Amino acid sequence: MRQLIAGNWKMHGKLADVAGYAAAIRQAPAHVDLLICPPFTLLDRFGSALKGSPVALGAQDCAPCPQGAHTGDVSAAMLHEAGAQYVILGHSERRENHGETNADVAAKVAAATAAGLIPIVCTGETEAQRDAGDAEALVRSQLVHSLPQNFSGVVAYEPIWAIGTGRTPAEDDVAAMHAAIRAALLRHLGAAGAGVKILYGGSVKPGNAASLLALPEVGGALVGGASLRAEDLLTIAADAPCG
Ligand code: PEP
Repeated sequence: MRQLIAGNWKMHGKLADVAGYAAAIRQAPAHVDLLICPPFTLLDRFGSALKGSPVALGAQDCAPCPQGAHTGDVSAAMLHEAGAQYVILGHSERRENHGETNADVAAKVAAATAAGLIPIVCTGETEAQRDAGDAEALVRSQLVHSLPQNFSGVVAYEPIWAIGTGRTPAEDDVAAMHAAIRAALLRHLGAAGAGVKILYGGSVKPGNAASLLALPEVGGALVGGASLRAEDLLTIAADAPCG
């Protein structure tokens, strides 16, 4: 499976940043799939700047319903029209800051899929849950309650305590969690569970990407802070093994 390296700009970036960044990431190495997920306001500009390149475009959230009186929400179809092919769903920052539940994520997965977007569903435990030995059970539960049984998309494992902190789990712990996720996907989705990419996210940067991306069942990375610099994202992409 080719690895997917996805940059999540979170709430960063201006229109003026797009042209230079897009020109740089057009030079993505050919052995990986590269994806950039900017804020909503930059999607259309990124879509134009990346036209004709293999770099994919994604959003960071979508509404669970197709239209209506939902002030401030953006539907999956609107994102698709703006050029998005992917959408990140259930990021821990949305779960924490907006109280999103697994049921909310499931509704968003359905809306995204219906609009032709590929969902990237985020999972991950807090440090207290890991210390209590509950990490795998928690992530399994997030998967079972967020993914429909006909799920087609990507899963990201992002330990919350590793996001934006510069800390990463021990490699054995990443490998064990990714194996547990694969087993849960096979149980939940049947044979289709074998084809779901599982990204690792949490303080991936040049310097640690090569060893994290080489671990079994790691199918790529979801990169926050380091994706803001095109050369760092490209270095991470170059470090991914050939699929
Ligand atoms: C993220 O936002 O999904 C993320 C992994 O952030 P960072 O790479 O900054 O830890």
